[in-house]
Amino acid sequence: MTERSDQIAAGLDAVRRRIETAGAEAGRAEPAGLVVVTKFFPAEDVRILADLGVTDVGENRHQEAQQKAHACADLGLRWHFVGGLQSNKAAAVAGYADVVESVDRAKLLTGLQRGAHKRGATVDVLLQVSLDPPGSGGRAGVDPGELSALADRVGECGALRLRGLMAVAPLGEDPDEAFARLADVRAGLLASHPGADVLSAGMSGDLEAAIRHGATHVRVGSAVLGPRPPVL
Ligand SMILES: *Cc1c(COP(=O)(O)O)cnc(C)c1O
Repeated sequence: MTERSDQIAAGLDAVRRRIETAGAEAGRAEPAGLVVVTKFFPAEDVRILADLGVTDVGENRHQEAQQKAHACADLGLRWHFVGGLQSNKAAAVAGYADVVESVDRAKLLTGLQRGAHKRGATVDVLLQVSLDPPGSGGRAGVDPGELSALADRVGECGALRLRGLMAVAPLGEDPDEAFARLADVRAGLLASHPGADVLSAGMSGDLEAAIRHGATHVRVGSAVLGPRPPVL
């Protein structure tokens, strides 16, 4: 093993233990899944992760994601797109992403549907819901009040499959409070869309809180791979 693979193995072990402990404490029958967010890290790291049994990886920038997914196509990984999405890039993202977690407006659906169709694949969709106070103009995400209508629109796209929700806890708020709100939003969506039972929540700093509030998978970058290299 190289030094880098030792490092990643140690990070991965620690995160897997945190997920198991949090799940056990929450009385969950099965531990939450893990998507390792590999943004800013090279394709070689993705190979190491696959060797260590990781099945799902996440990326947040289209060009970088597309290149890495292409370079790692032989690994059979599931690629999750978790970043802000421009509508003119949506078709291209659906060309390699198996799960698009950051769908927050109907305008993206035409492109996603086209890209998925062209590839002959069904792309899983998570709706990114905003946990910010209304009108705060903070992070991306659909307003909880508009969620059900957006879910209906996804349902009209034959190459897309609505799987559930994704959220990021707002900066500066106790993540337990934010994820408690998320659990309520999720219950509301499940009442009208019972199949949308995936909940993607929790990152390096707050995965325990997310698991307490029902996350079915967490998205973890730095706690597995170390600090991200600075943006050039
Ligand atoms: C980068 C990123 C993560 C992972 O963040 P870490 O704090 O490094 O674990 C999770 N979700 C999204 C949407 C991200 O952009």
